[in-house]
Amino acid sequence: MEFDFTWILLGLPIVFALGWLASRLDLRQLRIEDRQAPKAYFRGLNYLLNEQQDQAIDAFIEAVQKDPDTSELHFALGNLFRRRGETERAVRVHEHLLARADLSRDDHERAQHALAQDFLKAGLLDRAEDALHKLDGTRYQEQAWLTLLSLHERSRSWPQAAEVARRLQQAGHGDFSARLAHYQCEQAAQLLHKKGDAAAARQLLAQAIAGAPQAARPRIQLAGMLAEAGDAAGAYEQLVQVAEHAPQAVPLIASEWVRLARRAGRLPELVEQLGHSYALTPSVDVADALVQADVARGAPIQRAREGYVRHMAQEPSLIAASRWLAHEPFAHEGAHATVQRSVEHAARPLARYRCAACGFETQGYFWQCPGCLAWESFPPRRIEEL
Ligand SMILES: [Zn+2]
Repeated sequence: MEFDFTWILLGLPIVFALGWLASRLDLRQLRIEDRQAPKAYFRGLNYLLNEQQDQAIDAFIEAVQKDPDTSELHFALGNLFRRRGETERAVRVHEHLLARADLSRDDHERAQHALAQDFLKAGLLDRAEDALHKLDGTRYQEQAWLTLLSLHERSRSWPQAAEVARRLQQAGHGDFSARLAHYQCEQAAQLLHKKGDAAAARQLLAQAIAGAPQAARPRIQLAGMLAEAGDAAGAYEQLVQVAEHAPQAVPLIASEWVRLARRAGRLPELVEQLGHSYALTPSVDVADALVQADVARGAPIQRAREGYVRHMAQEPSLIAASRWLAHEPFAHEGAHATVQRSVEHAARPLARYRCAACGFETQGYFWQCPGCLAWESFPPRRIEEL
C-alpha cells in the first residue's frame, strides 16, 4: 500500500489549529475559575457594607475554599467571626493561618495579634496573655504590652503590672513613672493588709517616692502607716512633703494634717502652711481644716467657725453653710435639727468627687476610678467646687 504524504501535509495545520483552540479553551476555563474567588470576595464585601454579616461570611467562606492560599480572606473572615462573638471559629481561622509554612513574617505577626484579640474577646485571659507575650519584638509589641498592663491591672497582679510598665518605659513608649508608683502603692497596701508585712510595704512606698517624687499618693500612704505606728511627727513630715511636691493634693490631706499637727505639737506652723495653700487654692476642705486647727489651738467653735463665713464670702458654698449653721443659735431652736438635716442632705451630693474621664461620682476619693479604671482621673476637689 502506498502511503500518501499529502495527508500529513494537509493534516499538520489542522492538528496545530485544534491544539491552539484547545489551549485557548483551557486558559479561558482557568480564567473563569480564577475570577470566581474575587467575585465571591466582592460579593462578601458588598454584604459587609450592607451590614448583612451572615451572607458576607458565606461569601467569604466560598472565596476561601476557591483560593485557600490567600491570607487576606482568612483575616477578613477571622475578624468577622470575632466581631460577631463567634470566637471559637475566629480562633480556628487564625490558628490555621499560623500553622501555614508559607505565611510571610508580616502575616504571621498579624495572625498572632488577631489570635490574642480572639482570646481577649472570648474572656480566655490566660491564653490571651500567652498570645500577647508572643508579640514581643514585633510591630504589635507596644499595643500588646499596653493590653497586658490592663489585664494585670484588672486581675490586680501589681508586680506583673509594674514589670510591664518598666518595660514600656525602657522601650521609650512614654512616661510610666506615675503609673508605676500607683502599682507600688497598691502592692504595698496588699502586703500590709493581707500579710501584715509593714517593712516590705514601707520599702515599696520608698521606691515609689524615689521613682515619682511629684506623686502625692506614696507619701500620703506612708504618712498613714507612720501615724498608725505612733510616729505622728514622721507622718506630719510626709504631709509637709506632699504639700511641697503636690500642692494640688492639699485638700485631700488637710483634715488629717491637722490631727497629726496636734499630736506632733506643730499646729502654729501648720496654720501658716494651710493659709498659704488656701491663698493659692481656696478649697472648702482647707477652709474646714483651718477652722479645725483654730479649735485645736483652743479657740471656741463660735469664733473659729467664722472661717466658714470668710470662705463663703469668697466662694458660695452649701457645704460651708451647713457647717456654719450647725453652731448657729436659732430664734426657733426647736426647728434647728430639722433645718440642719435638710441643709446637710442638700449639701451631701455636692461633697462628692467626680471622675473627669467618665463622670462617676463617689463619696470618698479614689486614685483609680471604679467606673472607667482611669488613674488619678478624680480632681482633688468637691463637686461643688468644680
Ligand atoms: Zn471614671
